Amino acid sequence: MLILSKTLLDEMIEQCRREAPDEACGILAGKVSKIEKVYRMDNAEKGPATFFMDPKEQFKAMKDIRQLGLEMIGIYHSHVASQAYPSGHDVEMAFYPEASYVIISLKNMESPQVRSFKIAEGEITEEEVRIV
Ligand SMILES: [Zn+2]
Repeated sequence: MLILSKTLLDEMIEQCRREAPDEACGILAGKVSKIEKVYRMDNAEKGPATFFMDPKEQFKAMKDIRQLGLEMIGIYHSHVASQAYPSGHDVEMAFYPEASYVIISLKNMESPQVRSFKIAEGEITEEEVRIV
């Protein structure tokens, strides 16, 4: 399960809308399942169907997360025109079996959909997202 505040979620959705039609992405940090900080990342592979976090920027965020005594809990990205479910490419690029992969779908612009998954060895398992 992933616990996310409405405020952080709104910020993430706003970023996704701003960066559309390109996919937006970032890192979620916190403790156990509770997200406490969101790191917006540049999509180094700008495009409507793919994302790639700049390694330097990612490294900086990881360092900051460690210094704050937090953990990297997950990675989020947007799906501009498809549903909030991992694409084949997302599964291929899922290198952290412990991480939560959060997808924000803007397919319905009025009410974006947020879902979270664990992806390990090609297996996709959905987990509950609790908005608090
Ligand atoms: Zn995707």
